[in-house]
Amino acid sequence: MSKTSQPRQQHQQQQQQGPPFPNNYILRQVSLADSKPCMICFKPSSTVLVSENQHDFFYVCPSHLLDDQFATPIKPESYNLLHQEVKQINQSVAKLRKDMETEKPYLWGMSNYWKLNNNGDNPSTNDNDNDKEKSKSQEQNNDKDGKSKYETLKARLADQLQNLKEKEEEIKLFKFKKYQLEQTIYKNRLMLHQRRKHEKEKSEKLQQEGFFPQAPTHQLTN
Ligand SMILES: [Zn+2]
Repeated sequence: MSKTSQPRQQHQQQQQQGPPFPNNYILRQVSLADSKPCMICFKPSSTVLVSENQHDFFYVCPSHLLDDQFATPIKPESYNLLHQEVKQINQSVAKLRKDMETEKPYLWGMSNYWKLNNNGDNPSTNDNDNDKEKSKSQEQNNDKDGKSKYETLKARLADQLQNLKEKEEEIKLFKFKKYQLEQTIYKNRLMLHQRRKHEKEKSEKLQQEGFFPQAPTHQLTN
C-alpha cells in the first residue's frame, strides 16, 4: 500500500510548487442563456473550458477547439480503443478479400459457359461428366448452411465493412472532454491569472489601509 501512495504524495508536492493551474482543461456546457463572449472572437458561447483544479476558466466557441494552434484534445482510452478496433477490422477485411480471391468460383463460371454454348445440342457423356464434376466441387465448397465458402466470406466481408463504417463515423463524431492548450495560449492564461491576483491583492491592501480598522479577530481567553 505504501508503494502506491508514495508517488501520489510526490505528485501532489510537485503540483503545489508548480503553476496555479495545470494545462488540463475540462469541457463544460452551460445553458444558452448563460452564454458569454468567446475568449478569441467575442461571439457568445455556451462552451466553457475549466482547468482541472477550477482555478481558471474561459468561454470559447466549439469551432476553435478543432484548431490545434489553440488546443489539442487529450485522447481517452475509449478513443484509442476505437482506433485499435478500426485497425483490427481493416486487417480482417484484407484477410477476407484474400480468402475470397482463392475461393472465387471460376469453375461455376466455366460450367455456365458450357451450358450456354452447348445448348444441349449434342448431350455427350462429357457434359454429364462436367456436371458431376461441378456438383462435386460445389459440395466441397459448401458449408453446413448450404452456402458456398465464397458466399459466406462475401457476407462476412459485408458485415465487416459495415462495422468499419460505423466505427469510423464514431471516431469522426467523438466528443472529447479534456483539452490541453497550446503553450502560448496557456502562458497567456497564467499571465492573466497572475495579473488578476496582483490587482486583487493591491485593492485589498488599499481597503485595509487606514480608515477602517479591523475588529480584533482573536477571542479573549480566560
Ligand atoms: Zn469564438
